Amino acid sequence: LLEATGLRKSYGERVVLADVSLRVQPHDVICLIGSSGSGKSTLLRCLNLLEDVDDGSIVFEGREVSDPRVDPREVRRRMGMVFQAYNLFPHLTVLDNCTLAPRRVHGLGQAEAEARARDLLAQFGLAEHAGKHPDKLSGGQQQRAALVRALCTQPTLLLLDEITAALDPELVGDVLAIVRDLAEAGTTMVLATHEMAFAREVATSVCFLHEGRILEQGPPAEIFADPREERTRQFLRRVL
Ligand code: ATP
Ligand code: MG
Repeated sequence: LLEATGLRKSYGERVVLADVSLRVQPHDVICLIGSSGSGKSTLLRCLNLLEDVDDGSIVFEGREVSDPRVDPREVRRRMGMVFQAYNLFPHLTVLDNCTLAPRRVHGLGQAEAEARARDLLAQFGLAEHAGKHPDKLSGGQQQRAALVRALCTQPTLLLLDEITAALDPELVGDVLAIVRDLAEAGTTMVLATHEMAFAREVATSVCFLHEGRILEQGPPAEIFADPREERTRQFLRRVL
């Protein structure tokens, strides 16, 4: 589905992605773990073409999207991304947030976009909030709504960047439950997370990033129980 090869990215002198290669196949749930500053967000932003890479290639659905001639909006139509916070447009209701891209970008009619959005909102326990503005929702509800908004465009790949990091601990569970449901439904995802227990449970594969490199990648059972790299051990000792 996606194949990133030899990605490099620097901000001035600072090398943020040193040489990252990542392959995503349908139904993969790939968790990116690693210390703060290791490059997880930058990698996701590069995959979504929110950042240009300095070197390397990204092939998504058989097309080289790292080619500067490719319109990033085309790519983001099929690759949804949800961030840590501030995902929703504050001046629109939850429902309008969810129908905007399907109508504007995908050319769905109002009725069809609304039916799809209401369906998904109901599925994720947000039916009663459809008519509200985001500031009337809890942080957890806002993040659930942000996930629904991303799903309304029916992306083939979903990128999630620490979507529970800004939430009060008691709200984290609700949002993770949705991601778990999506994983069980076969949604293909790449997610950066500090929730190790969650990564262990839902990931098909875990990538440990260190200083802009994927030092180690493997099934969660392997990475968490018996990592090969000393750096991975050190990191896990700190966070587990
Ligand atoms: P965290 O776990 O804290 O979210 P991360 O693994 O997501 O960390 P990144 O946000 O990818 O890390 O950042 C990697 C490095 O790139 C950091 O050293 C950061 O300071 C630097 N960086 C990120 N964005 C920029 C930018 N726009 N300009 C300059 N430096 C940046
Ligand atoms: Mg980050």
